[in-house]
Amino acid sequence: MGVKTKEEYIESIRALNPTAYMFGKRLTNVLDNPRIRAGIEATAATYEAAQLDEFKDLLITTSPLINEPVSRFTLPPSSIEDLVARVKINRKLGNYVGTCHQRCTGLDCLSALAIVTYDIDQKYGTNYNKNFIEFLKYVQKNDLAANAGVTDVKGDRSLAPHEQQDKDLYLHVVERREDGIVVRGAKAHQTGSLSSHEIIVIPTRALTKNDKDYAVSFAIPSDTKGLIHVVGRSTLDMRELDGCDIGNTLYSKYCPTLIFDNVFVPWERVFMCGETEFAGDLVGKFSAFHRQSHGGCKSGKIDCMIGAALVLMDYNGTSKVSHHKQKIIDMIHRAETLYGCCLASSYEGKKQPSGTYYIDTVLANASKLHEGKEMAEAIRLMIDICGGYVADLPSDRDFENPEIGDLLKKYMKGVDGIPVEKRIKMYRLVEKLALESADTISDIHGGGSPEAHRVTIFRETDVESKKKAAKRLAGID
Ligand SMILES: Cc1cc2nc3c(=O)[nH]c(=O)nc-3n(C[C@H](O)[C@H](O)[C@H](O)COP(=O)(O)OP(=O)(O)OC[C@H]3O[C@@H](n4cnc5c(N)ncnc54)[C@H](O)[C@@H]3O)c2cc1C
Repeated sequence: MGVKTKEEYIESIRALNPTAYMFGKRLTNVLDNPRIRAGIEATAATYEAAQLDEFKDLLITTSPLINEPVSRFTLPPSSIEDLVARVKINRKLGNYVGTCHQRCTGLDCLSALAIVTYDIDQKYGTNYNKNFIEFLKYVQKNDLAANAGVTDVKGDRSLAPHEQQDKDLYLHVVERREDGIVVRGAKAHQTGSLSSHEIIVIPTRALTKNDKDYAVSFAIPSDTKGLIHVVGRSTLDMRELDGCDIGNTLYSKYCPTLIFDNVFVPWERVFMCGETEFAGDLVGKFSAFHRQSHGGCKSGKIDCMIGAALVLMDYNGTSKVSHHKQKIIDMIHRAETLYGCCLASSYEGKKQPSGTYYIDTVLANASKLHEGKEMAEAIRLMIDICGGYVADLPSDRDFENPEIGDLLKKYMKGVDGIPVEKRIKMYRLVEKLALESADTISDIHGGGSPEAHRVTIFRETDVESKKKAAKRLAGID
């Protein structure tokens, strides 16, 4: 086995047989559906990159667990160097695919579980860490992609899981058997669930003793019986099905709702079952890792936006316009501050009792808060530079139409000497970068809503030391 090539990854996804629906119809061939395929290609890019000279030194490393080369997307960090590499691979890959490569959530779950399963075992003498380590070995040896099943559908947000009228609105254990557990519920916005071999489930929030059945974590193959993927709509999804006006011609993102309809999980795949006091810690650690992953990846996406804006400045004759240059600088500084905050979070990381390294939570959450606002600003600046055709460019089919195609090409021309087709293609990419809802909404809600980042920042900050410093300066004992 070992590190997979892109082709081996694609074939391994073809070998799965998930239950999936899209636009009201059952999908019989997930891989060859153009909408899903564009998402799978984005994950496939992480496998392709691992073979490319430009990426491979960063993406491939040796796992101390199996003592073999592995993809960093399967490696919980065991040093500051590993924590730093997490950010770097996400930036490079974010830039490479211009959307979400969908593989970071799995790594973020693996990293959080590597810490928390150990802590649970220390307290209760359970076997969760052993189960997890066996699962991790399997993931590393087979270079698997994993999806994070975190966000429950949650029903009435003012109620705890056990208070909901329908008890299934948070995923929970409905049966405990000798050989395993049966779970029921649904997880929302499951980025790349059909691009993944495994679904890793963890609780979505801190829990109390009354929510014992909801304190559950496990991993199952993405085609497990009873698991139903319902692919969500995204603003530009019909373009892929239509095969026209696609924008990013290589990659895309999709986020199914995942229904767990009485799914059986064998005990050896269970990583938490009833230890409510660890639920908050598990989701908190996942969220911090994931918020940091976002910053790496989205700074890479801003790099794409900067590139697209600069090319259109060349095509439109505005490359020397000073306010455009200023706006490019404003985009660069947003990408770099986001990246810098994520890197700092890694450099300030600390070793945990399990031996896994954990990032600085305050810096990770600060980076995500920054992303939520500044990605929107970077998109605004890109649209400002590129002009109104980001909104309403005629279709490729109009350009091909014998009656109006030549007229459109005449009137869509920019700078002399630039083929009009290039200008049109670049506008399409800008449209996708700005308006692909499956990706841009994640700038705000991915890894938790902004208020969750703010609450974490305040909770994790040592405010007392700040008060003490101020009092000292003011001469107060
Ligand atoms: C594109 C995209 C991709 C995603 N990918 C994944 C994924 O791969 N895996 C995964 O598990 N999740 C994923 N998520 C889910 C993401 O983590 C959630 O969207 C986020 O946690 C918010 O949850 P929600 O959507 O249910 O909104 P809500 O929780 O309903 O939040 C909406 C608003 O209500 C507020 N709110 C809600 N409840 C309360 C309360 N009790 N008190 C005060 N304020 C409250 C929030 O702060 C927010 O302002 C993704 C989301 C998006 C948009």
